[in-house]
Amino acid sequence: MGYCFGIDIGGTTVKIGLAAEDGTLLEGWEIPTRKEPTPEGLLLDIRVSILDRLDRGLDRGKKQKIRRADILGIGMAAPGAVTADGILHGAVNIGWGDVALAEEAERIIGISPVCVGNDARLAALGEAAYGAGVGARSMLMVTLGTGVGGGVVLNGKVLMGESGVAGEIGHMTVNPFETVRCNCGKMGCLEQYASATGMVRVAKQVLAKRREDSLLRQKEVTAKTLWDAARAGDALANEITDAVSAYLGMALANAMYLVDTEKIVFGGGVSKAGELLLQKVEKAYRSRVFAHSREKEFLLAKLGNAAGMRGAAALLLQKIR
Ligand SMILES: [Zn+2]
Repeated sequence: MGYCFGIDIGGTTVKIGLAAEDGTLLEGWEIPTRKEPTPEGLLLDIRVSILDRLDRGLDRGKKQKIRRADILGIGMAAPGAVTADGILHGAVNIGWGDVALAEEAERIIGISPVCVGNDARLAALGEAAYGAGVGARSMLMVTLGTGVGGGVVLNGKVLMGESGVAGEIGHMTVNPFETVRCNCGKMGCLEQYASATGMVRVAKQVLAKRREDSLLRQKEVTAKTLWDAARAGDALANEITDAVSAYLGMALANAMYLVDTEKIVFGGGVSKAGELLLQKVEKAYRSRVFAHSREKEFLLAKLGNAAGMRGAAALLLQKIR
């Protein structure tokens, strides 16, 4: 039996999973993300954590020792655009510039191959292989968190693109007249309206402009209080959530004219808004596509924040097969 590690490098923690050759997750744990301008220190932390796990030995289920030689490789998810050559083109969240991450990781951790991909793309692959996308031929996943990420999986393979941005739905332009800049430097990106921060921004604009009473005026507006208020029937909160859902529905309709997947899956913190979010986005989506492509499956993600780590393992397993 062979094994691999799936690693998801996030802004505050690095998630590490040990998976069996068939993709089953045997164990998962976290270490803090060391914040330095280059990745060497963080890769060393990962090396120490992995070697420590291998020293402890046992695969709990099988009661057999996992040797270094049984490790088939490492899949790694990183928060930035990654090209097929394993180069990460900057990771703003953790302050890295361009780095040959796959090569550096193989050198420092001492295990190869290391396959690297963008975190949102690999979360989509994880959901497709082990979560909400199981059984589907194709799936688009949109991750609604502090930012908006995305990924497209067609026939089991995640689309990476020539420059690593295929599926980057969060930076699709949905408003060419926006005057405020997105984190990426452009104006009018989906992320400016549909991320948790974007939804709060839109809510505050509406609240400042309007005089009606609203539950939203009673406490700090967050994506959660916004959707809770909408669910409680608050008129202004419903208007705001309709507006942000309209942007999402528009972006998804545009995306479907390119990739036309079977399922559309929603992950990330904002997806905790649940069925109400799905209903509103689906309604906006349906108004913008051809009649026969209205019946898409709109689903919530299943793997939570393990999706990136699971998808990273899946990427490695696909590459070595
Ligand atoms: Zn942007």
